[in-house]
Amino acid sequence: MIPIIIAIDGYSSTGKSTLAKSLAKVLGYTYIDTGAMYRAVSLHALREGYLEGEDIDVGSLISDLKSIEISFVLGQESNSVVCLNGQQVESEIRGMEVSNCVSRVSAISEVRCFLVAQQQAMGVKKALVMDGRDIGSVVFPEAELKLFMTASEEIRAQRRYDELLAKGDEVDFEAVKSNIIERDYRDTHREVAPLIQTKDALVLDNSSLTPKEQLDWVLEKVRQITSI
Ligand code: C5P
Repeated sequence: MIPIIIAIDGYSSTGKSTLAKSLAKVLGYTYIDTGAMYRAVSLHALREGYLEGEDIDVGSLISDLKSIEISFVLGQESNSVVCLNGQQVESEIRGMEVSNCVSRVSAISEVRCFLVAQQQAMGVKKALVMDGRDIGSVVFPEAELKLFMTASEEIRAQRRYDELLAKGDEVDFEAVKSNIIERDYRDTHREVAPLIQTKDALVLDNSSLTPKEQLDWVLEKVRQITSI
C-alpha cells in the first residue's frame, strides 16, 4: 500500500481526533493533532502573561515563539501526548482556560507560520494522519485524502462536556457549548487560514454514526485511493 497523507479538518469537537487516532492505528501511520500545538502555544502565552482578558500582547508572543518547543511523546495506551518545552501538558491544554483563548492565539499569522512549517516537516515521508482546521487547505493542499467533519452543535457540545467531566473538570454545559460556537465563529471568520471546506474534501457528518462506522467508511476511501 502506498503511503498517503490524510488531512482531517472540521468544526470543534466533531470527533476528528478520535477518528484520526483509530485510522493511524489501523494503517500504522503517525497521528498529529495540530489543535494540541495551537493549544500548547496558547498555554505558553497564558503562563508568560501575554494574555489579559481579551487582549493579547502579540509583539511579545511573536518574539518569544523561538523559545517554544513542541513535541509529541507516547503516553498511556500508546496515545500521543503533547509536550511544551519537554513538559507533558496534555491535561492543561484541554481545560477551559486554554479553550477560551486558543482561537484568538491561532488567528495570529506568525503563530500559524511557526506551526505550519513544523507540521509540513512531519509529512515529508507521508504515512500521516493530521487533523486541524487548515490541513487540507494550507498545510497539505496536495493530501491524497481530505475529510471535512461536521456534526450538530448540540451533539458536539455534549461530547466535549462528557469528555471534560470524565477528566474530572467541573464544567457547565452551556459554557462548553458557547465556547464551541465562539471558536467555530472565530475559526471560520479569521483572515489567515480560516476553516473552510475545500472542494476536494469528502464531508463526513457523524451526528448519528458510531466511531466504528466512521472508521469503516474512511478505510474504504483509503483502500480506493491506495489501490489505484
Ligand atoms: O482541534 P482543537 O479543537 O483542539 O483546536 C483548538 C483550536 O486551535 C481551534 O479552535 C483553532 O482555533 C485552532 N486550530 C487552528 N488550526 C489548526 C488546528 C487548530 O487554528 N490546524
